[in-house]
Amino acid sequence: MADIIQLLPDHVANQIAAGEVVQRPASVVKELLENAIDAGATSIKLIVKDAGKTLVQVIDNGKGMSATDARLSFERHATSKIRSAEDLFQLNTKGFRGEALASIAAIAHVELKTKQETDEVGTVIVIEGSTVTEQDIVVTPNGTSIAVKNLFFNIPARRNFLKSNTVELRHIFDEFHRVALAHPTISFALYNNGSETFNLPNSNLRQRIVNIFGNKTNEKLVPVEEETEILTISGFVGKPEFAKKTRGEQYFFVNDRFIKSAYLNHAISSAFEGLLKNGTHPSYFLNLYVNPQTIDINIHPTKTEIKFDDEHTLYALLRSAVKHSLGQFNIAPVLDFERDSSLDTPYTFNNKVSNTPTIEVDRSFNPFTEDAKPRQRSVSMASSYKKEDTTGWESLYVGLESKGTKNTQDFSEVHFESDETTISAFNDESKVDQAQTTYQLHNKYIVSTIKSGMLVIDQHRAHQRILYEDFLRNMTIKEGVSQQLLFPLQLHFSTQEIDIIKELKEDLEHTGFVFSNLKKDSIEISGVPVSIPESEVSIILEQLISDVENEVPDSNFSATDLLAKSMAKSLAIRTGQTLKKEEQEHLVNKLFACKEPNVSPTNRTTFITMSVDELDKKFI
Ligand code: ADP
Ligand code: MG
Repeated sequence: MADIIQLLPDHVANQIAAGEVVQRPASVVKELLENAIDAGATSIKLIVKDAGKTLVQVIDNGKGMSATDARLSFERHATSKIRSAEDLFQLNTKGFRGEALASIAAIAHVELKTKQETDEVGTVIVIEGSTVTEQDIVVTPNGTSIAVKNLFFNIPARRNFLKSNTVELRHIFDEFHRVALAHPTISFALYNNGSETFNLPNSNLRQRIVNIFGNKTNEKLVPVEEETEILTISGFVGKPEFAKKTRGEQYFFVNDRFIKSAYLNHAISSAFEGLLKNGTHPSYFLNLYVNPQTIDINIHPTKTEIKFDDEHTLYALLRSAVKHSLGQFNIAPVLDFERDSSLDTPYTFNNKVSNTPTIEVDRSFNPFTEDAKPRQRSVSMASSYKKEDTTGWESLYVGLESKGTKNTQDFSEVHFESDETTISAFNDESKVDQAQTTYQLHNKYIVSTIKSGMLVIDQHRAHQRILYEDFLRNMTIKEGVSQQLLFPLQLHFSTQEIDIIKELKEDLEHTGFVFSNLKKDSIEISGVPVSIPESEVSIILEQLISDVENEVPDSNFSATDLLAKSMAKSLAIRTGQTLKKEEQEHLVNKLFACKEPNVSPTNRTTFITMSVDELDKKFI
């Protein structure tokens, strides 16, 4: 038989690569701005028309390119920024993959004008869908101008997929702000449909923030400075009273590069703990400088995620630096890091006792209810595993709630070996007291009273158990509730990973996933289980794949079980997450409605009890 393998022509390969690099006009903005910065520009102009759908142009006064480099810059893997793999560990530039210009040129009309200071004349190159249609000398200022017109002109599906101009422009502003905030000493301007929207002269970070977000921002900023051997922190956090309902103004820059990190975000939220109104988020603009050898930025095509060698130390340093600043500026009254503020005796309670010196005690009084707390503690969990506040606790149980009794009935027919254990562990003696009160300890344990004494529940493990049984049930009775996505999600995976998804496809569908297309290197999802936020889908699938890969398949290997475990692990509330009273109670009740409440899906203890007798012994 004849040979059948062919190398993909470059323009096809570039179009495929473009799918990763360029999702929308804002992606072009990001790549072009970063190239301008890498070229040493001190002044950068961004011009957009129709939210970038018609034109994205970046003009810089950087070092420009020679005629040969100008032509080469559109080749894939053409970069001036690294020479060998080792260079990757000493990166001081934004780009290094050498695929941005090639990708952009594959899906748009691009005009490049560039001139180096030492050259008499510059170069102009016009490329349309990877084909060079013009190359010439031109009179042009020092620096580079790249105009990207008619994005996705040759991929109508992608063009139709773009959102409204308002939404796309919002994304462009976001990218522009990120780059402008990371480089306050470079001047930036943004022109939108012919009018100047931002004009940011070179300045310092505080002025840059004010220039972008308005004059009144100035008084809201609290400086944060910290220098240690492994990390330097500088920047600002917003005063707690100005915290916002949305997460808009939250910026981390690591070595001048904007990054997203739910983990570090959590460090900040926890530094603000007790200071924020419920449902509000602190602003921050923080620069972290670390040794480039201790980070890996090469893990995401759009490079907004980063891997740190020592995340835990960074977390602790960041949290204490922010706490320190808030304390120094007299914003946080208590600086004792360890003490749990909800253990403070409420003042009302103090008064009550001293003013009424009788033995009549207010039995309904509970110092740990929301009302009685000295101050509201915020739900500060910013883990990427949780939906925004609007979704509420109930959504975590949607599968359970929406089933009604019929399915519960069905479920009881499914045989669980653990039935006996459950019963013996939960005889009447230790059943949760009807008039129970719950209290959250260190955002980790839920303490509750039971008839015989007290109960301490590990919130993360308990929630894993609840979700695990929920998913398992849905898969067994094949009735996961699905939510349709407005736009199908396209996710890219390797061939091996796709094979794993194929193996699990049926079970995944029973939990509520709807696959509209499974290709060699990507999948299209048009529906997801109601309990899973759309933004978490890729994380959950990645986690699942790595769980399957790490599991040593033996005779007991059950894909269903593994899937339920993995999803439960991904979605369960975390240690460190503050739970409202109703949430705590809900968790307790749901746990004890489980078939096997006493262990997590990975066989770890979910709760312990301590009887009054045992307590008595400790008080001898
Ligand atoms: P990368 O930035 O990853 O190197 P790009 O495709 O973004 O890859 O750019 C390719 C090369 O083109 C860069 O390495 C750089 O040498 C050159 N280049 C791109 N934009 C500019 C610019 N604005 N000024 C000078 N050189 C540039
Ligand atoms: Mg680049």
